[in-house]
Amino acid sequence: MTSPVSSAVSSPSHVAPSHVVVIGAGIVGTATAYELALRGVSVTLVERREGAGLETSRANGGQLSACEVAPWAGPEVPGLILKWFGRADAPFRLRPKPDPEQWLWLMRFLRRCRASARAERVLPNLELALLTRARLDAYRENFAADGRTLDMDHAQNGILRVFRERHGLEEAREGIGRMTQAGVEQRELSPAECVELEPALASSFQKDEIAGGIYCPSDGMGDAHLFSRELAAAAERLGVRFRASEEVEAIEVHDGKTTGVRLADELVAADAVVVAAGPMTARLLRPLGLRLPIYPVKGYSVTLPLEDAEAAAPNVSITDESRKVVVSRLGNRLRAAGQAEIGGYDLTLEMPRARSVFQALTGLMPQMGALEPRAEYWCGLRPMSPDGSPIIGELASRNRTIRGLYVNSGHGTLGWTMGAGSAASLADLICGSAPQLDLTPFSHKRFSL
Ligand SMILES: Cc1cc2nc3c(=O)[nH]c(=O)nc-3n(C[C@H](O)[C@H](O)[C@H](O)COP(=O)(O)OP(=O)(O)OC[C@H]3O[C@@H](n4cnc5c(N)ncnc54)[C@H](O)[C@@H]3O)c2cc1C
Repeated sequence: MTSPVSSAVSSPSHVAPSHVVVIGAGIVGTATAYELALRGVSVTLVERREGAGLETSRANGGQLSACEVAPWAGPEVPGLILKWFGRADAPFRLRPKPDPEQWLWLMRFLRRCRASARAERVLPNLELALLTRARLDAYRENFAADGRTLDMDHAQNGILRVFRERHGLEEAREGIGRMTQAGVEQRELSPAECVELEPALASSFQKDEIAGGIYCPSDGMGDAHLFSRELAAAAERLGVRFRASEEVEAIEVHDGKTTGVRLADELVAADAVVVAAGPMTARLLRPLGLRLPIYPVKGYSVTLPLEDAEAAAPNVSITDESRKVVVSRLGNRLRAAGQAEIGGYDLTLEMPRARSVFQALTGLMPQMGALEPRAEYWCGLRPMSPDGSPIIGELASRNRTIRGLYVNSGHGTLGWTMGAGSAASLADLICGSAPQLDLTPFSHKRFSL
């Protein structure tokens, strides 16, 4: 038996839709379909791939990181892009394209590279991350009530941010009080305390490569691909029609109202449509005259089956702040992820860039070098908004609202951390209940479309 949603009061004037199409079965779309089904809504989930979680949600860094919700755009970023310009192993890379979409997005991103702009996004993102934690707990309870386990290699062993240089640690120290005040405990650790907490860092400690760390015990890690698959199956058990291997070609709108979506040879009627198409979101909406600033930022990961090396692997999730790589233990696998390339929609896996993630991992934990023959490399496109927060809500252009057209996308570097919370909030909005958190900071209206 699935437990009901803790819900808020419905507005008497709001008519809940009779049928909703959700486009995209990544973390965000599957969670949205599941949350709507929990509220008794009839849902069709359409996914162009053969199953759930096969694009950006396939092999991300695994971190559920309420402690690290600050956007990427910040005062140091323009300098870093210039510093690394042209280097194949650069953690940040700009590949200019003759594409106005890219330049417009970049201009918006650069405008957000101010300390004050970064600071103003931290609390809204944190609220979403904390709601996500609560929703993941609720999903686990729902599975347990059905006699099942939500199998996503989840572990809540905390996240340790490791700094090689003192100045990085000193800057980050300033955020500890703010986060603790907001309800996310963090504490600073000496180099010796870092290695005591996570013995897999012993080699870096012995080489004097750790200046210190900041530990957030309540954070966790898990496999977003397994999660998407499990949740899509749970949504189907609640009556959601999951149409895999079907691509939405267009969103149908008549008289200012969404009427459904067009597939290759069929119209699927709906009185509400949720676009959760990850990096493809902006392209799907453009024919409707909506120019959402969501642009792909490519990243890489490497997954290492641990087999007999489990004892040498970390149990705490690590962010190496100097090498710009995150490391998560997913059951009997180790995953490292990093790299940010602003270079369009190309998904070619470039081995020098993929290997640089592996090298960053072995720089931090040389004992993992022996696993190289088992390495599985992957790359994916983060759906990024310029300000590092997702866009959640009903859509309107400068001239008109399109009733029944909703978006849940642009989670960028934090889709796993914020996805379930954004799904629950949007489901509340669609059903006419007061969302569990204020969605105003996530409205598309903060950008002019
Ligand atoms: C290297 C890397 C590391 C990361 N690490 C972390 C991390 O540690 N923690 C964290 O919180 N986040 C992390 N992220 C970010 C996170 O993975 C993303 O924000 C998240 O996966 C986005 O999910 P999504 O559902 O929006 O997009 P997707 O997973 O891409 O899902 C969108 C789906 O829509 C489908 N689709 C698109 N167009 C259509 C169409 N026309 N018709 C039908 N279906 C369509 C696609 O096939 C896809 O399955 C990382 C990302 C990368 C790349």
